[in-house]
Amino acid sequence: MIQLENLVKRYGQNKALDGLSLSVAAGESFAFLGPNGAGKTTVIRILNGMTAMTSGRALIGGHDLAKEPLAVKKLCGLAAQNLNLDGELSVRENLEIHGLLFGMNGTDRQERSQELLKYVDMSERADSLVKTLSGGLKRRLMIARALLHRPRLLFLDEPTVGLDPAIRRRLWGLIRKIRQDGVTVFLTTHYIEEAEFLADRVAFIHRGRLVNQGTPPELMAALGAWAVDRFNDAGIETRYFQTREEARNHLSENEFEGTLRRVNLEDAFLAQTGKRVAE
Ligand code: ATP
Repeated sequence: MIQLENLVKRYGQNKALDGLSLSVAAGESFAFLGPNGAGKTTVIRILNGMTAMTSGRALIGGHDLAKEPLAVKKLCGLAAQNLNLDGELSVRENLEIHGLLFGMNGTDRQERSQELLKYVDMSERADSLVKTLSGGLKRRLMIARALLHRPRLLFLDEPTVGLDPAIRRRLWGLIRKIRQDGVTVFLTTHYIEEAEFLADRVAFIHRGRLVNQGTPPELMAALGAWAVDRFNDAGIETRYFQTREEARNHLSENEFEGTLRRVNLEDAFLAQTGKRVAE
């Protein structure tokens, strides 16, 4: 569904993307995990025609982005990081405008809006002004709007940023449902649990480069399954073990206060880049 070859994006002297190549299969849920400024949003902006790449090639659903931008646009839905809804209009009107922009006819716009409001469990809010919605509802509406024209590929840029944990989990349920319904999902996040929960495959991105990619278990397996964190004056020192028993033994053999936990994607990212995803 997505094939990126050596994508470069320069802003003056700064390289936001420094030769990024990757592919995403149809039906997959793929997450870009990386700290602020890593280049995640830049990829999404390029693939959605919001900024031009400096060099490289992007194929979406077999269409070359540079040569067939409209064909690509039809295939893609985007829920951007910033809440770019019109607060003075109702929920239904926000969907209506999107449908008009994508050339959907009146009946189709109405039926599809109703269907999607039901899908994101917002039917009873159809006539509410968007400015009266909570953050979680606005995010759900952004996703409904992105799906309105039936894209085969959905981009979600930091879909749950700033939401409280319960609302975040509810959105995760919705995103999983979308993927189960056959839409390819490409999301960016700097939340470890979000990538672990939602993604079939995760790519680590750091300073505009792809550092590693694989399924979450593959990315973590290189370190082991269990971690012991030891807190000292310099910060946290972590050791990794294949089994819980080995980790427990390490704790009991050494006289320090430590915490035993499962290895996570943050460990894998840190091991590869020397940097934490969220700092
Ligand atoms: P965040 O989660 O903070 O958005 P990100 O991984 O999405 O982080 P990008 O927004 O893609 O990162 O930014 C990558 C780099 O490009 C950063 O160094 C950023 O400062 C720079 N950058 C992004 N947009 C612009 C712009 N319009 N002009 C100049 N530099 C930019």
